[in-house]
Amino acid sequence: DIFPGRVNSAGVDLSDPLVREPLMQRIAALEEKHWHAEPTFCSEDPGFEAEIAPINKPQDLTSEVGTRRDSLPEEIELAIAKANAIQPGWNALGGEKRAVLLEAAADAFEAHTDEFLSLCQREAGKTLLDAVLELREAVDFLRYYASEARHLCSEPFLLPGPTGEENRLSLAGRGVFATISPWNFPLAIFIGPAAAALAAGNTVVAKPAEQTPLIAALAVKLCHDAGIPEEVFQLLPGAGDVGALITSDPRLAGVAFTGSTDTARAINRTLAARDGPIATFIAETGGQNAMIVDSSALPEQVTRDVVASAFQSAGQRCSALRMLYLQDDIYDETLEMIHGAFEALHIGDPVNLATDVGPVIDPDAKAALERHIARRKKAGRKVWRRKLPKGTGAGCFVAPTIIELDSILDLKRENFGPVLHVARFKGEDLGAVVDDINTTGFGLTLGLHSRIEETRRFVEARARVGNFYVNRNQIGAVVESQPFGGEGLSGTGPKAGGPHYVARFATERVVCIDT
Ligand code: GLU
Repeated sequence: DIFPGRVNSAGVDLSDPLVREPLMQRIAALEEKHWHAEPTFCSEDPGFEAEIAPINKPQDLTSEVGTRRDSLPEEIELAIAKANAIQPGWNALGGEKRAVLLEAAADAFEAHTDEFLSLCQREAGKTLLDAVLELREAVDFLRYYASEARHLCSEPFLLPGPTGEENRLSLAGRGVFATISPWNFPLAIFIGPAAAALAAGNTVVAKPAEQTPLIAALAVKLCHDAGIPEEVFQLLPGAGDVGALITSDPRLAGVAFTGSTDTARAINRTLAARDGPIATFIAETGGQNAMIVDSSALPEQVTRDVVASAFQSAGQRCSALRMLYLQDDIYDETLEMIHGAFEALHIGDPVNLATDVGPVIDPDAKAALERHIARRKKAGRKVWRRKLPKGTGAGCFVAPTIIELDSILDLKRENFGPVLHVARFKGEDLGAVVDDINTTGFGLTLGLHSRIEETRRFVEARARVGNFYVNRNQIGAVVESQPFGGEGLSGTGPKAGGPHYVARFATERVVCIDT
């Protein structure tokens, strides 16, 4: 343990009915609550008519959870001006005081468990289990990056030198960071990059995904209540046009983005075309994640881990399994077992405790997945699909699907939902399989089920991925234990929840004194 004293959040024990039942009642009592997101500093001009967009439940598009008021250009301008003006003061506060504030925010998050779980379910369509895991991760990010701020940003590090010379290295915030975050972890990945930027001494303007601004608005409000000044951490809700305006501002020192590879490229181009400092760009993007299962694997364990990796969170994790390779001599029997578990998946409204697979985020996501599945069917691929249960018609549900392919190279893009592809391989082709996986250019997660140590070593050495999981599922990286992030088309690094993350948000200064 590098930083004794910090432990990850215990979360909520859903297996204990004495905890779970009252929690579910409290969440149900929040069902009618109407939420709203707007910029932290709204323009005072009474004449404008800003666009107000409804936020509806993914599982029932007729049900409104709240509203989003998009940020206006003058509000973006004002936000960055305020963030810029206060940044030296926030940096001068030092790592210890910033850590205390981030920890106070973590406590406030835990104290608002019910609201966060309700919003995860209603705004993002998450199951209760996923909602609990999400809140835990958010709290862990806050506390972990706080501990990093203490360690990295309090006292300068003394460096060696000859007698009569004193060398000191210190870390400082770079300036204003913009964070642009995704809807699939509307709380954890909203707060994680922002907390790291704040920990390092930057101020932050945060644009949450257009689909999930409400949970972000609550997170920002609780940070303010915990003592982080409003100018230091500001919310700028909106769609892609708001993100584009923010990232084109020459006063930004950096951008931390999580989302698609295409959007990351667009942001990178915008940053490169601006005046102002060369921006730091941190991007966590997509994956084309595979799992390889050889004939030494334990079939029950494989089944459990495949189904969790591919279908938990309705497959809407960048870590999720998309391409399963089964060795040919176990192909039929293993696929049959996977089918058994696949058939048992409970699809439906995520507020039901029994639900395993909830909705996808919005109609566009559903349409893209359906197009992909239809194309494979048309191409004559074997496709297995579950039927959607009655009562799901008003929501964005995609029936969980398994598609047989020859190779991962048959996949041209990431399919972000409950769709698993499966292919067979011969033992002697293991190296070629890993090469094909590398050839996609993505490098996020890879799973391996094998009891053969040599196979594990071989794949580990050959695969170009950020997170390699052996004999387990390949989702749910834990803060500090499995720092998370990929390479190539999957992102720039550094890894979220890892020891090099906060430092990337900081600039380094050296002072050399002749004594
Ligand atoms: N960290 C998450 C996991 O390990 C995935 C994050 C993402 O989907 O962006 O499952």
